[in-house]
Amino acid sequence: MTPAATTAPATELTVLDPRDGSLVGTVPAATEEEVRAAVAAARAAARDWAWTAPEERGKALRAAADRLAEHAQELAELNARETGKPVEESLGGVMAGVGTLHQYAELGPVHRGHSLRGSILAADWTVPEPRGVVLALTPWNDPVAVAAGLLGAAIVTGNTVLHKPSERCPHVGARLGEILAEALPAGVLTTVSGGAAVGAQLTAHPDVDVLAHVGSTATGEAIARAGVESGAHVIRENGGNDALVVDDDVDPAWAAEQAAIGAFANVGQICVAVERIYVHRAVAEPFLAALAEEARRRNAEGGLAPLVDELMREEVHRQVAESVAQGAVVVEGAEVPAGPGAHYPATVLRECAPGMTVMREETFGPVAPVQVVDSFGEGLRLAAADRYGLAATVLTGRIAHAQLAVAELPVGTLKVNNVFGGAPGGAAQPRRASGAGFGYGPELLDEMTQVKVVHVEMPPARG
Ligand code: NAD
Repeated sequence: MTPAATTAPATELTVLDPRDGSLVGTVPAATEEEVRAAVAAARAAARDWAWTAPEERGKALRAAADRLAEHAQELAELNARETGKPVEESLGGVMAGVGTLHQYAELGPVHRGHSLRGSILAADWTVPEPRGVVLALTPWNDPVAVAAGLLGAAIVTGNTVLHKPSERCPHVGARLGEILAEALPAGVLTTVSGGAAVGAQLTAHPDVDVLAHVGSTATGEAIARAGVESGAHVIRENGGNDALVVDDDVDPAWAAEQAAIGAFANVGQICVAVERIYVHRAVAEPFLAALAEEARRRNAEGGLAPLVDELMREEVHRQVAESVAQGAVVVEGAEVPAGPGAHYPATVLRECAPGMTVMREETFGPVAPVQVVDSFGEGLRLAAADRYGLAATVLTGRIAHAQLAVAELPVGTLKVNNVFGGAPGGAAQPRRASGAGFGYGPELLDEMTQVKVVHVEMPPARG
């Protein structure tokens, strides 16, 4: 649902600091000629890199990760200026990226195939081979952490990479590329600056073998169509409309804390943010009171960090205002504050119902819309009735209800009793409008490679 920062193909990208509207800087967008040259450079480097021993590739990636760690503070400060994410939180994202690169540096060299024996003197085995040139199209909401996953998995498996960072954080994207590329042979990682038009030109290029997109569903769908045309392998990690279902046996204050973390962390600009809440009638009133208090506290203590830009704020407020016109009742927030910066308050809405804008669309802002339900089963049914399939959370003390949620919810990730629960290094495979393919974990190494089946047997004896 996120609108592009610029609509017409731009020759340069101008970024304003969302905290106060001051100019961060401008970055030239790649010209059509530069895009063609970048693809050619990646293609030219592909064979040598594919033939480099996996252990060597792992070593180079480890060195790149170490360089990123050395520059973590610099990138975190730049990220705070471009996207408004506080420096400490931005630093957490950069260090998560460092961890991911290290993880792939270790996993890459032990990524392996299978063998099968059809007869005693024959052998069949599978070899994972690099796919060739990988295009990574990444978003702005955790730009280093997200890019590190795609870049690390693609590079360590022997692909060369074109990275097109988001037009909302081109300085972070360009600097990340400089830092990592220094530790890699020429042509293995090329950063291309630009907006949607540059992304689309890269996507349509016949010499690109993988289209790996982390971003909005609308963009992901266009990329999937481009992949059908060109034959490129497509990996899509897209938007979500994650539900939180609250059972009648949980502590309502704890449930409200979970809901607030899920809806308000990173000002709601997380793909797996809590987007819709279904709370059992038995605990609804104390839950709503505690959730309102969580929001008030955040709005009082100097307020939340800003949204990424004014466009995003307009979009979030449009969704909230439409929902209020459709019958939602404001408990807290929902007003655009005066003054500089793209701030928006932590917002709680009640009396929400299916079909309302905030219940139907991904809201990339700090909004917690609540619908009261008469049973846990009704909450599950409503949670499942959605076009997205990224993730969901249930809060319950009953094992049977947790098992029911696992069986009933058509999502890639289901969390029980922790909105942001998940093991480090875990995989994710979104469903329906939320995307396709593994975007994280060791399984991403499979996505970045293609398997060749080899069959070998003895020739017949001579004479
Ligand atoms: P976006 O799709 O607008 O942009 C992502 C990247 O795609 C950018 O580099 C952009 O320039 C590029 N792009 C845009 N239009 C293009 C086109 N027509 N062809 C090729 N490339 C194009 O997404 P965004 O607004 O930057 O990110 C926010 C969205 O990302 C949210 O919907 C969020 O849920 C999603 N997201 C998903 C995950 C996940 O793992 N599922 C993680 C983070 C963010």
